[in-house]
Amino acid sequence: MSDNIEKVKCLIIGSGPAGYTAAIYAARANMNPVLYQGNQPGGQLTTTNDVENFPGYPEGITGPEMMLQLQAQAERFGTDIRNGWITKVDFSGDVHKVWVNDETEIHSDTIIISTGASAKYLGLESEQKYLKLGGGVSACAVCDGFFYRNQEVVIVGAGDSACEEAHYLSKLCKKVTMLVRRDEFRASKIMAERVKNTENIEILYNTETDEVLGDGQVVTGVRVFNNQTNEKQEIPATGFFVAIGHKPNTDIFKDYLDLDETGYIINAKPGTSKTNIEGVFVSGDAADHVYRQAITAAGTGCMAALDAERYLAAKDASFEVNTATNY
Ligand code: NDP
Repeated sequence: MSDNIEKVKCLIIGSGPAGYTAAIYAARANMNPVLYQGNQPGGQLTTTNDVENFPGYPEGITGPEMMLQLQAQAERFGTDIRNGWITKVDFSGDVHKVWVNDETEIHSDTIIISTGASAKYLGLESEQKYLKLGGGVSACAVCDGFFYRNQEVVIVGAGDSACEEAHYLSKLCKKVTMLVRRDEFRASKIMAERVKNTENIEILYNTETDEVLGDGQVVTGVRVFNNQTNEKQEIPATGFFVAIGHKPNTDIFKDYLDLDETGYIINAKPGTSKTNIEGVFVSGDAADHVYRQAITAAGTGCMAALDAERYLAAKDASFEVNTATNY
């Protein structure tokens, strides 16, 4: 082994609530964790305005502020937080190898994957503009729906997520217009029926988004077109929700870890954070297509650190387990 290869006990990949929570636990357990933040330090929550459903913040907190606090808490216990993008891994041997920015090679006894998932967007310029401004574009109804109480919103998508989110929004908003690009839903029958039977949800089939309209600061409507007739119409709306799926950020692990057909990492032992590779653990949205909440990500980050700690203790008798939990 070359002298300049860094050797660490615990390497955490990703800086969302899962990664930082794993770091807090790992640092307090003497694992001297190194955390790589990735391209979007703070993760998906940094694109959310107000977080009002994370326990412990009765007045709410902005997503970016919450992530800075989580980072500070991880640093307080000694986590070595670094900028950098993990571009390659090799989990074929006893020692887990990762490469940072295609250059620096690091060997770690344990790896905690917290790379999250990215919401898919349509990619329209106007959509991206109001997303960046925090002016009415969202990919998370549970996070942001509350801000559109008694207002009119538009949601794109026809899968289970879109149905679930449209139904959630229908309980808060005056009207929800759902844009379905084909003449049928992809969602399960029961979910689609629920949407169809909700009075304040209007479904427009064969309909796609032409442009998100706004006043330069906030969304004021959506121009849509019927892809059969090319007929256009403008729908007044203050919120534009995109629910066309998520992509887990797991591409670099596909040669080593078991992934499901959409790329989510499969837990080798349900109820733990273990993957099919010993010493490699997963937390947060990279393995969760169901809940996808900051609080569930934080919970699984804690699990991954505890699992990693136990793995280290079993491998190396000189490493002392700090926690009292047993299972
Ligand atoms: P899906 O991939 O199932 O659905 C995506 C939807 O978005 C499809 O209807 C698709 O249209 C539409 N879409 C994709 N791209 C565009 C575009 N550019 N413009 C307009 N529409 C677009 O994703 P989901 O997130 O809904 O679900 C992912 C998985 O999670 C599924 O297995 C689902 O069953 C599961 N899930 C389960 C839930 C539950 O059981 N409670 C809740 C949420 C998710 P088209 O159909 O034309 O391709």
